[in-house]
Amino acid sequence: MTGKINIYHLYPNHLNLYGDRGNMLALCRRARWRGIEVNIVPVGPGDGINFTSCDLLFMGGGQDSDQKLVAEDLKERSAEMRRAAEENMVIFAVCGSYQLLGSYYTTARGEKIGGLEIINLYTDPGHGRLIGNAAISCSLWDPSRTLVGFENHGGRTYLGENLQPLGKVLYGYGNNGTDKTEGAVYNNVIGTYLHGSLLPKNPWLTDHLLQKALAYRHQDITLRELDDSLEIEAHQAALKLAEGRPR
Ligand code: GLN
Repeated sequence: MTGKINIYHLYPNHLNLYGDRGNMLALCRRARWRGIEVNIVPVGPGDGINFTSCDLLFMGGGQDSDQKLVAEDLKERSAEMRRAAEENMVIFAVCGSYQLLGSYYTTARGEKIGGLEIINLYTDPGHGRLIGNAAISCSLWDPSRTLVGFENHGGRTYLGENLQPLGKVLYGYGNNGTDKTEGAVYNNVIGTYLHGSLLPKNPWLTDHLLQKALAYRHQDITLRELDDSLEIEAHQAALKLAEGRPR
């Protein structure tokens, strides 16, 4: 084996909407196909997180009630999580978890859930839910690449000044349905509203996360190319679904 990645999967039983767990499968498979060892650590309520061994932390989407539970449970670990994010640990958070990375999320019922304050954003409620297939143009690469997924959120997220969005909305709603931004990137922290599962049909994002997780522990490994024909077919099928959505 060359290389090893420890992936902490936070609250797999509480945060798993629209196939978010598939992101874990994509990360594991694409690492193992390159001979990289992957160790998965599921973390439930009350469990600790060993930040000295965590390379990549994944959190899926969740309903308001689960978000509340998770926010409460993570409160005492928020300072450590913040420190790790500053040191470039990889965090990948989808929808409800993405909202929790910010300063707060106010639910449609007006309940304010305090966030982890890892990235400079906040989430307010709005009229109606933002639902549908979506596509964004993502500038983690030059030239930009497309990411496709499915969104379903009541919250509207607004990015603080200088915070880079994950991408520009091509089809769908994105962070708030108005400013055309989607998701956020800060150091190696990536938050997005895109479920799907997202990673299996956007393999370049999976590889980006793996590469950053390896680099975080100074593992200088170049990921070899894989045959992505199936993944690209899935990507194109999802893109077709997203086309025709409101711009
Ligand atoms: N409960 C949050 C919202 O409705 C997040 C939902 C989700 O994770 N899909 O905005």
